[in-house]
Amino acid sequence: MNILVINCGSSSLKYQLIDSNSEKVLAKGLCERIGIDGSLLTHTPAGKDKVKIETPMPNHTVAIQLVIDALTNAEHGVIESLDEIGAVGHRVVHGGEKFASSVVVTDEVIKAIEEVSDLAPLHNPANLIGISACQEIMPGVPMVAVFDTAFHQTMPEKAYLYGLPYEYYEKYKVRRYGFHGTSHDYVSDRAAQMLGKSRDDMKIIVCHLGNGGSVSAVDHGKCVDTSMGMTPLEGLIMGTRSGDMDPAICDFICQKEGLTPAQMNNVLNKKSGVLGMSGVSSDFRDIEAAEAEGNQRAKAALDAFYYRVAKYIGAYVAAMNGVDAIAFTAGVGENNAIGRAIICEYLGYLGTEIDAEKNNIRGEERVISKDGSKVALMCVPTNEELAIARQTLELVK
Ligand code: AMP
Repeated sequence: MNILVINCGSSSLKYQLIDSNSEKVLAKGLCERIGIDGSLLTHTPAGKDKVKIETPMPNHTVAIQLVIDALTNAEHGVIESLDEIGAVGHRVVHGGEKFASSVVVTDEVIKAIEEVSDLAPLHNPANLIGISACQEIMPGVPMVAVFDTAFHQTMPEKAYLYGLPYEYYEKYKVRRYGFHGTSHDYVSDRAAQMLGKSRDDMKIIVCHLGNGGSVSAVDHGKCVDTSMGMTPLEGLIMGTRSGDMDPAICDFICQKEGLTPAQMNNVLNKKSGVLGMSGVSSDFRDIEAAEAEGNQRAKAALDAFYYRVAKYIGAYVAAMNGVDAIAFTAGVGENNAIGRAIICEYLGYLGTEIDAEKNNIRGEERVISKDGSKVALMCVPTNEELAIARQTLELVK
């Protein structure tokens, strides 16, 4: 069965068409500037040249129709007709406490996603628009919602409750949810497989280090803690997000700079992290290049980023009373060998040491610790789209 995986943002839409038998990507692409002038569809069919189609996309329904047209096009298409799409898997950012696993989309599911939308006001409404646009264009094709938060729903209360008046949890569901769940699930499972084990018998720490970053503790197959919180702002220092900090800083800076809480929130999400610290860029490659040229702020930002990752690993070793494997994934985790080495330098106390030669890879699955290491250090490329396709197939077959 071919499964269309959709990741819908407010003005963008990413897609992959995956053959669930071979697990091969038949085509992938991106619609940008939906609802804005200059809309662009970039469509990449497997084994053929990339096509760029500039055409108005006033809304997501038009964008989805263009995606279907591209997939079925005589020249750059990969299927003959819509009938060859067996199901659609949608990435949905926030499932609140309602969704601990993926679900087939029904009217009740849509209502429940709407009900938790105040927890992710920028993301969930866009995800819902993607679902309704697909339903309009592909009536009768089953749809599945795969939540970024679902994998973390196994966290115990002690890990998800904040030190706040309990009524905020009761009234507004203020608690830790965690994100990148599809990636933490996929990578922890894959890491165990690579070691010839089941993750049900292991303690694994997954470091998803991309533009957004999070660490999770996966104890015997279940997430027991993760660094992102009620929103993706908590935890690691990220590309543009601050991560953990003293909450009193918000009021202090609001008063000093005359900012509203919403403006402060914007600073913390969009202007902070390694971008704000270095003043160079949110892209780790740019910051590394600046550091190599002697830029001290770039160096300070990278040092703080790696140190924070190492601190979370230490915290999660404590949370699980041990660890068998530590897996690095996402843009920085998969590609930045120097970064992995710097983080792992902090981990000697675990009886593990990185193997410089094995670590000299980009985007490849590999154990990167020395032979005989007590804890396996690993590079495990994530594949959220494949994970969404697998979960979709599981629910519709
Ligand atoms: P992601 O959000 O997973 O797409 O990751 C994006 C981040 O990965 C960006 O900050 C990139 O700079 C970083 N990245 C990608 N390739 C490399 C690389 N070869 N070395 C260092 N960072 C990289």
